[in-house]
Amino acid sequence: MDTTQLGLAKGKWVVANCGRFPSEKNCRLVIMAPAEQRADLVEAAATHAVASHGHENTPELRRELGEFLETIEI
Ligand SMILES: [Zn+2]
Repeated sequence: MDTTQLGLAKGKWVVANCGRFPSEKNCRLVIMAPAEQRADLVEAAATHAVASHGHENTPELRRELGEFLETIEI
């Protein structure tokens, strides 16, 4: 992937890739944030999981999402 097309700052990024979760909707949403904004990413991913996948908005959901995030270096 040529990330320069996205104009992203170099450094560590955290990625939530919904396509890695089996779902009936075949959702392929990807959300990214700089590593220092990990909390914002968990928040956005939780919002998506609740709105689109019917999860309950609980601390448990956020904990699971936190474990699911991948860290990449660009
Ligand atoms: Zn999704």
